[in-house]
Amino acid sequence: MDAVFLALIFCGYDHSLRHLTKEMWRTAMSLALTGAERSIGQRYNDLGQRLAQQLGDLVSDLQQRGEVRADIDPILIAKMLFNNFTAMYIAFAKYLVMYLETLKTKVAGQMALISNLIENAPQMSKYNQPLSGNEMIRTGGPATFMRLPSQPTAQGLDACFIGIPMDIGTSNRPGARLGPRQIRDESRMLRPYNMATGAAPFANMQVADIGDVPINTFDLKKSVDIITDFYADILTHGTIPLTLGGDHTLTWPILRAIREKLGPVALVHVDAHADVNDEMFGEKVAHGCPFRRAWEDGCLINEKVYQIGLRGTGYSPDDFDWGRQQGWTVIPAEECWYKSLAPLMSEIRRQIGDAPVYLSFDIDSLDPAYAPGTGTVEVGGLTSTQALEIIRGMAGLNVVGCDLVEVSPPYDPTGNTALIGANFLYEMLCALRQ
Ligand code: MN
Ligand code: MN
Repeated sequence: MDAVFLALIFCGYDHSLRHLTKEMWRTAMSLALTGAERSIGQRYNDLGQRLAQQLGDLVSDLQQRGEVRADIDPILIAKMLFNNFTAMYIAFAKYLVMYLETLKTKVAGQMALISNLIENAPQMSKYNQPLSGNEMIRTGGPATFMRLPSQPTAQGLDACFIGIPMDIGTSNRPGARLGPRQIRDESRMLRPYNMATGAAPFANMQVADIGDVPINTFDLKKSVDIITDFYADILTHGTIPLTLGGDHTLTWPILRAIREKLGPVALVHVDAHADVNDEMFGEKVAHGCPFRRAWEDGCLINEKVYQIGLRGTGYSPDDFDWGRQQGWTVIPAEECWYKSLAPLMSEIRRQIGDAPVYLSFDIDSLDPAYAPGTGTVEVGGLTSTQALEIIRGMAGLNVVGCDLVEVSPPYDPTGNTALIGANFLYEMLCALRQ
């Protein structure tokens, strides 16, 4: 709205003003502008000056045409004009305020619309996200861990899930070769945010499922070499592997690959069994031997090895002592009964310090009441909450790899063992340094 427009409104306001002399106009405008300036501020002064000029010119024209009277008291007119002009300025200012308010309402409406769009837009994180249960029913979508994107190698990943569908190292009930696929299936229930710990791993790390290790199911010894080579490649990308087993044999070849890259590591091994047999049935490679082999290969920092949950029947009273003789700490299940394991983990964290540490979790460490779907069941095991305390207790450590082994779906008709395994793998991801 410019000065001319304002002047035209002004002239339309009172036709009697046509009868003023040019000089009367100027006096009146001057007084009015002073008042206006006081009333609504300096910023309208320039506009007012231009308005006065326009009106003066208009009066000049009228005077030349003999249409302006000279017998009106200019002071009276000035007062009248002052009041009218000020009132009009105020009205204009009020109109402006109203217009701005409308604009503000419009802008606020648009802002609300934009916020709404942002809130409901598909997540555009720079990191991979699990497929949400609000985007695809949980029984659909890709059969990857947590329905994450899959990729063929670990390139570009901070952490990866990887399956080893192997059970030719088992001694009793088989079926762990079906574990990775079943754990992935049950992982479909998992949501990205850890309500207990506050961890949001997919907001801070690039994670994907890189599929399965192509083991040779007719040759366990060849399979362990295949596993080591596979993990050597994962580690060249600086990626932390989280492994879905598979029988416990697989931890040894993984630790070999880690030793090549990082040297010996601390170990938290949760299991009903020590898995330190020198041989089984005359064989050096079996699911009861991985930590004996890892020890032989110099994969472990012996004073930083912890075996938690050991129990059951043995061949001799000192079955669990071999590890102790190497400097390992052995915490049998009975020492865990009826209590929180948070203090134990606090002490383990203190002792491990900043050393690289590997977490190997055999699902048979849990009591079969929680996890019956496994091959070598022992009574009197850990509770699922104690297991959570152990895994969450790893947070803050320099965790370089984790596995969850020995889920055997044929003995898991409810799917609960695989589901617990999936949850534990997610908790391991949450415990990584992010
Ligand atoms: Mn076991
Ligand atoms: Mn084991």
